[in-house]
Amino acid sequence: MDSSTDNQKTDRTAAGDNDVQRTISIGERSISYLKQFRTPAIPRNYEIFYLHSSGQNKELSDAIRKALRAHSCLTEEDAERIYEEYIQPTAYAAQVDLVGGQISSEIKELLTAIATASQKTGLFGNSLKGITEELGAVRSPSQLNIIVKKLVLSTNEMTDYSHDLEMRLAESRQQIEEMHHNLETIRAESLTDQLTGLSNRKRFDEVLETEMKEAEESGEPLCMMLMDIDRFKSFNDTFGHQTGDQVLRLFAHTMKANVKGRDLTARYGGEEFAIILPKTKLSAAVSLGNQIREAVRSKELIKKSTGESLGRITMSVGISCHKQNDTAEELIRRADMCLYAAKNGGRDQVKCETDPGIDIETEAA
Ligand code: GH3
Ligand code: MG
Ligand code: MG
Repeated sequence: MDSSTDNQKTDRTAAGDNDVQRTISIGERSISYLKQFRTPAIPRNYEIFYLHSSGQNKELSDAIRKALRAHSCLTEEDAERIYEEYIQPTAYAAQVDLVGGQISSEIKELLTAIATASQKTGLFGNSLKGITEELGAVRSPSQLNIIVKKLVLSTNEMTDYSHDLEMRLAESRQQIEEMHHNLETIRAESLTDQLTGLSNRKRFDEVLETEMKEAEESGEPLCMMLMDIDRFKSFNDTFGHQTGDQVLRLFAHTMKANVKGRDLTARYGGEEFAIILPKTKLSAAVSLGNQIREAVRSKELIKKSTGESLGRITMSVGISCHKQNDTAEELIRRADMCLYAAKNGGRDQVKCETDPGIDIETEAA
């Protein structure tokens, strides 16, 4: 065997080894970051630190440094925000680019097919013109026979082309429709929380904006509910983050089962959830809050794999109600204050902004 081929192979293997080495060392650095900053070793956090260690995403690294400066560890909220801000959008953007690219190449092919077909139509027109001229000079039946044959041939050819074009158009239309559907799916995914299947914060913000505008115009009531699981950190510490995730799914399921119509259930962040309740008075929203709270606390949690009982969880709820000239920020702030009061009041309870002892004055007031 030629020794230069051998050398090339060795070079390639060495380059491959280097890549592997680099990946391993980035991975090791990510793990040491997880330990150093006391961040739970779940895939999302590993991905955050992996990207940070690889130095590929400067904005992400800056955001991590800023969070570490502020908290000296990466809190759950930091990790969630950094993931949503710097990693999730790129994943969706890449998918949108891919499908967008497919659509434009499909359209390009289609235009080529149409251009070819119109060229052919032009040629057909020319050959018809020639045949018409020849017809004028026909002197015998056999001459006429030849011309008719030519005409049949051109017409057949043209029919084949239009048939092909028709098929091509139908095929393209179907493909473009499929790609359009894919884009819709990607958009829906980008508005959905992956863990629970509820709407994510982005969708929550969009819908709250729209519903508030409508409430402002129609004068109909609108409430919003913020919920936070009680002492969830200690649940995670006792049973593990993955079991905690299962509980979040169950929690989401319970929320969904208790709402109807236009109500929007969302994962607001970590273990905080929110519901937008259009056309709902404060009293009805409080009843619903208590209904969900009761449903959650009544469930004994059993670990499927072992049958082990994990006890029960409870949640605290804060509810605010839209006022004329309210802003989304203000409405959320008031619900958050009520949630804080529910926690302070001993947890496992619902507080709304008209409850005694709730001070909802703005900071500026
Ligand atoms: P409190 O009653 O005051 O709410 O106590 P808490 O321990 O629930 O405190 P806090 O709401 O600040 O706790 C947030 C905890 O929720 C931190 C983290 O362990 C857990 N958490 C947040 N997001 C997730 C998640 O996606 N999965 C799991 N398993 N746990 C999460
Ligand atoms: Mg919380
Ligand atoms: Mg909590």
